[in-house]
Amino acid sequence: MKDEKCIFCKIANGEIPSKTIYEDEEFRAILDLGPATKGHALILPKDHYANLFELPDEKAASVMQLAKKLGAQMKEKLQADGFNLVQNNGECAGQTVFHFHLHLIPRYEDDGQKIGWKPGKPTDAELDEVLAKLG
Ligand code: 5GP
Ligand code: ZN
Repeated sequence: MKDEKCIFCKIANGEIPSKTIYEDEEFRAILDLGPATKGHALILPKDHYANLFELPDEKAASVMQLAKKLGAQMKEKLQADGFNLVQNNGECAGQTVFHFHLHLIPRYEDDGQKIGWKPGKPTDAELDEVLAKLG
């Protein structure tokens, strides 16, 4: 399952060269060309899935195990002090390449980066409204 027009399909399958830090039958992990920090990498499935919701459950489980393994390596070999996993779904969520990818972002004291959001101040009634839908 590849998409002819998808750049990450081409990278994941080796048609376009990349700085590959890991590869197996299902996944390739590459260095991001616009890294947030030193070592910022992306795990790409070799098959095309636009986002998390298209990714089969078994691959979703495998990708998290792989993130843990590569993250541990990064912490050790790059002497990272912390680690963020980021995974964007949809344009409004910041997704720019519509082939599932998981960002592995090693963090360093004073790296000057910020991954976060502005905390809201919901009322109890507003939280209950959400709870009625999701709880
Ligand atoms: P998104 O915003 O979709 O979650 O993340 C896309 C990421 O892919 C960005 O961090 C961007 O720097 C990276 N990226 C986009 N095109 C390429 C490319 O051709 N090669 C590599 N290695 N990274 C890319
Ligand atoms: Zn693709």
